[in-house]
This record gives sequence, C-alpha cells and structure tokens, in this order.
Amino acid sequence: MPGIRVTVWNEFVHEKKHSAVKAIYPEGMHAAIAGYLGKQEGLTARTATLDQPEHGLTEAVLAETDVLIWWGHMAHEEVEDRIVDRVQKRILEGMGLIVLHSGHYSKIFRRMMGTSCLLRWREAGELERLWVANPAHPITRGLGPYFEIPHTEMYGEHFDVPQPDELVFISWFEGGEVFRSGCTWVRGRGKIFYFRPGHETYPIYHNQTVLKVIENGVRWAVFAGNTEMSEGYGKHVQESIETIRSINH
Ligand code: ZN
Repeated sequence: MPGIRVTVWNEFVHEKKHSAVKAIYPEGMHAAIAGYLGKQEGLTARTATLDQPEHGLTEAVLAETDVLIWWGHMAHEEVEDRIVDRVQKRILEGMGLIVLHSGHYSKIFRRMMGTSCLLRWREAGELERLWVANPAHPITRGLGPYFEIPHTEMYGEHFDVPQPDELVFISWFEGGEVFRSGCTWVRGRGKIFYFRPGHETYPIYHNQTVLKVIENGVRWAVFAGNTEMSEGYGKHVQESIETIRSINH
C-alpha cells in the first residue's frame, strides 16, 4: 500500500549556487522534507526539481501524486506555463497543494489565487512566533498554543491573497509585523495550504515542529471527498431525473 503519495518539488537553485545554503541542505530542501515525510506512517514521498525533464512533473508523476509540495524563489519564471497548466488541472481534479515560504510568488500559487500574492519582507534573522489561530484545525494537531522559530526572514502584511477559507496560523515577528502564516483554500476539488516558514539560509526544514506541520498539512490536503461526481459533470443534461410536467403546458 503506497498510502498518501507526496511529491516534494523544489526549484533546487540556492542549494547549488550558495555555499551557506548548501551547508544546511547538502541534498536540497526537497530531500530534507521528503526524507522526513517518507518515514511517517502511511506516507510515501518522492522529489521533483526544476532541472529535470518537464520539471519532474510529468503526467505520470502527477497522476501518482496525492499531495504536491512546492518551494521556489529565484526561478519562478523558469517554470514552463504548460507545466503550470498541468499542475492546476490536477489540483482542480483533487490533488492537494502545499505551498511553502517564497512559493507565495510561484506561478502555480498566483494562478490558483488569482491575486498578486505580494507581501512585505525583511531579512534580519528575527524571532518568529507562530500562533495557532484555529485549534480545531487538523493541521495544528500536536502543537501547543504557539511555536517559535529563533531566526528567520520576516514576512509582513498585507499579504495579497483572497480571504482564506481557514486561517490556521498568525505569525508575530520581533520587528513588529504580523502575517497570516497558515492559510487554506479549496479550488475545484483540490485543497491548498500555504505555510510560511522556510527561508533557505536558516535550517527551518530541520525543525521538527515545522516538519510536523507539513506532515499534518499533507494528511489534511489529501482528497477525501466524493469520488463519484465526475460522470456527466460539466455536460448538457439531456434527460431529467423526474418527469418535468410543465414542458407540455
Ligand atoms: Zn525567503
């Protein structure tokens, strides 16, 4: 049983270009995240990167992906539009999407949101405190009222996204800004979770709480809805279920 099949996508550019990032993630952030997820019960994890044919996101890979995780920053514009189209189609069909950190400005996230997804940022190694804003949400399972990341890049409001369906985390930074760090939306049949932590120069994807939230996000984002809706959907309904008496009057 493959369980929940996760694909962790990373542009994988910083880790090759910047020695400080490579020191933290010698095999890439995707390897750190997939390494953790693959050890969790009921999950299998594979990776895909920008430099692979079709960015590693072939029709076959996406067909076998229940939840796609996305990290990008420097190379958003290098992602081919035809691959973005393909990923969007799978999300609308029910594949879950988890967008991490600077993935907020990826083509796929902007496509799914329909807004600029712009925000404010500052790179000063600040403390971040992530408050659980919705303790009933399965993504917060196992956490206390908040958790902290000692040094991170600040992201501040306003974050130009549509009003989230669910607000899961709110971050406070020691410079005074706040940010909606955990947000969910549904698009078509696909569940989307944006989770903010993950600046590449800090070891954030080695933080066990951050990894636990990503794991919870995977378990939440996997499709659990009605699989019997596809037949006849989006088509002209030629025959009614009941006799329509008014037709002949
Ligand atoms: Zn960053």
